[in-house]
Amino acid sequence: MAATPQTLHESARALPVFGHYDVIVAGGGPAGLAAAVSSARHGASTLLVERYGFLGGMGTAAGVTNFAGLYGVIDGQMQPVVHGVVGELLNRIDALGGLNTPQDGMQGRIRVRSYDVSCYKLAADQWLAEAGVQILFHAWVASVIKDDDGSHLQALVVETKSGRQAITARAFIDATGDADIAAYAGVPFEVGDGAGSGLFPSTMFRVGHVDGARAMAAIGDFKAINTLMEQAAKNKPGVYRFPREGAIVRPQKNPSEWRVNVTQVRNAHGKAVNAVDARELSQGEIDGRAQVADYLHFLKNEVPGFENATIADIAPQMGVRESRRVQGSYQLTGEDILGSARFDDSIGVNAWPMEIHRNGGIDWAFPRDAANAVNDLPWRMLTIPHVPNLLVAGRCASMSHEGQSAARASGACFVMGQAAGTGAAMMCRNTQATDTIDFAQLGPATLQTALRKDGVFFRPEVAI
Ligand SMILES: Cc1cc2nc3c(=O)[nH]c(=O)nc-3n(C[C@H](O)[C@H](O)[C@H](O)COP(=O)(O)OP(=O)(O)OC[C@H]3O[C@@H](n4cnc5c(N)ncnc54)[C@H](O)[C@@H]3O)c2cc1C
Repeated sequence: MAATPQTLHESARALPVFGHYDVIVAGGGPAGLAAAVSSARHGASTLLVERYGFLGGMGTAAGVTNFAGLYGVIDGQMQPVVHGVVGELLNRIDALGGLNTPQDGMQGRIRVRSYDVSCYKLAADQWLAEAGVQILFHAWVASVIKDDDGSHLQALVVETKSGRQAITARAFIDATGDADIAAYAGVPFEVGDGAGSGLFPSTMFRVGHVDGARAMAAIGDFKAINTLMEQAAKNKPGVYRFPREGAIVRPQKNPSEWRVNVTQVRNAHGKAVNAVDARELSQGEIDGRAQVADYLHFLKNEVPGFENATIADIAPQMGVRESRRVQGSYQLTGEDILGSARFDDSIGVNAWPMEIHRNGGIDWAFPRDAANAVNDLPWRMLTIPHVPNLLVAGRCASMSHEGQSAARASGACFVMGQAAGTGAAMMCRNTQATDTIDFAQLGPATLQTALRKDGVFFRPEVAI
């Protein structure tokens, strides 16, 4: 019998062209949503390509159900620091009855807002339609085609139910979270912590039929759930398996529904599942759901208010915190977070601390200046020297493992997306349709003026 071949050659084939756009945004998470709306608002014909049939990225597909990084401490005051287009999305979710009031945690150092997944999906559909963004759902970007010069991108190749197709554009924004486009285009990238692991992924779930009042009395304090887990582990050894120390168990807008962030999905070597490894990703989905069943058992037996709890939803996919991070013109570092860095080419701020999901637990690290606990995000973390007409925004932008543990939060991803979409549309507007686009030529001051006009928050100037 012939040996199974290790590789096979696919025949070359001509691809139908789906269409031509000024800007294509790949990925409909926080970065992609803000990019697409901003691009269309600035006059560019814009297509958003998304592999699922709904928008929201990890926020919906992975059941995150919580916006972090929209608020930060400046001059000692907790305040909203991510403005701009995201405000419109929040208003829309709120109008649908799906946005919770802000909740504080970590001794008042963080403020978050939880939301209903279905309201987010609906709000995002309406928001993009009104902004004039065309959406192509159920389209998986599978490859890229470059110009004859070998550096500029010419087209994305997508797999759809209508077959494999090419879509051409002048400018491209990779908001896939996994830097799929950048990887296909040969952009150098890093995966995880450089030691075979990375931020651990989690399968998120929500439980329903909770007695909200009793649950609040028992675990209203952010850390109280951790104490209950420690007591259960000590008093009933071997009864419960906890994938990590501590959990985040918080109420949604409906007080009988709580979100649970506790699982940690490992590969066969005990490291974080590599979300760009097909086999690991597949096994991880199964392992993550098994952990959900285990933890529900603990909640029902040990946590007041959860006696009748049922699983309301296991997120459609495992929640991936970190996979590929591209090497762009500047890499945002952990020190930039801790030192509340400022950059001349700032496009807005990140207000989330470092949140390292290591094996068995979470390590938090807050900026040293507690009264000014935000850092600028530089335009150069989106630009790619190797591919001049590509921007990479969101959790796969140019950041170190530590820097990404902070700026991966939704707030910073919205900021990056708005800058990417605005910058891409400006470049299309300011050049001839036949010109190639080089984002390195976009002056930060011009971009900052446009972003400011569109409501993006910039830190006050430092008094000299
Ligand atoms: C378990 C977990 C808990 C978290 N908790 C919080 C929290 O409480 N608050 C908070 O603000 N943030 C939280 N985060 C982080 C935050 O949700 C993400 O970092 C953020 O959603 C990243 O946004 P993004 O737009 O860069 O990418 P994503 O949200 O990952 O979106 C990428 C989009 O691209 C699509 N896509 C990917 N590849 C392709 C392809 N090849 N072709 C077409 N489409 C593609 C995906 O389907 C997805 O819609 C959490 C993350 C996880 C995993």
